Amino acid sequence: MINRLTSLYKLQLIDDQLDELEEMRGDLPLAVQNLESRMNDIARTISEKESEQNESIDKRDKNEKEIERILENQKRFKAQLFSVRNNKEYDALTKEIDHSDEVVKRLMMENDALADSSKKLSVEIEEITPLLNELKKDSDEKKSDLDQIVRTHEKEEVKLREERKKVEELVKKGDYSAYMRIRKAKRGKGVVTIKRSACSGCQNIVPSQRQLEIRRNNKLFNCEYCGRILVSSEIAEAAGE
Ligand SMILES: [Zn+2]
Repeated sequence: MINRLTSLYKLQLIDDQLDELEEMRGDLPLAVQNLESRMNDIARTISEKESEQNESIDKRDKNEKEIERILENQKRFKAQLFSVRNNKEYDALTKEIDHSDEVVKRLMMENDALADSSKKLSVEIEEITPLLNELKKDSDEKKSDLDQIVRTHEKEEVKLREERKKVEELVKKGDYSAYMRIRKAKRGKGVVTIKRSACSGCQNIVPSQRQLEIRRNNKLFNCEYCGRILVSSEIAEAAGE
């Protein structure tokens, strides 16, 4: 039982050190993540605008070709006007010519509108691109700060992770999941000792009868206030060695 409790407390000691390393990174990991997500959003907006522009260019090309084709036909109709044999033929040709004028006019108007919106898109892209560069600069700086912190403690962290793996194997499966559950809920400590008759996790007084029981080191006790696993100072000392 003593070993069971000691292993648990050892795990806590290693996690304390890993938590400290994590804390040194501060809000950098989250800040980098936020910046990257904003950058992705902007990059997506830009690429959407660019593909809209490309579609507009394609459509304008198509319209230009259609205009050329119609004008070519119209030339032929106009030439035929000189060789009509009757009014009916003349009317039919003029109607064709008028109609092609209308279509050409409509296509040209459409192209003007497309060119306008394409220009607007260019302005919009130009407006947001500097923001993207700014965010990138900020993100690069934060990333390099974070890298430096991580690199400084890399060896220490690797060593701690290896130690943790070993200790984890010594901890009973049920204890481990209980420990991890408490750690998650309480953000940090899963196992604590009693200091000045109080749970060092939540500072609530542990009844003296309970303190006596805990000192026997033969059972797992949880603080009745915060739920953390309570071990005696003897266990804590043994684990620290
Ligand atoms: Zn407590």
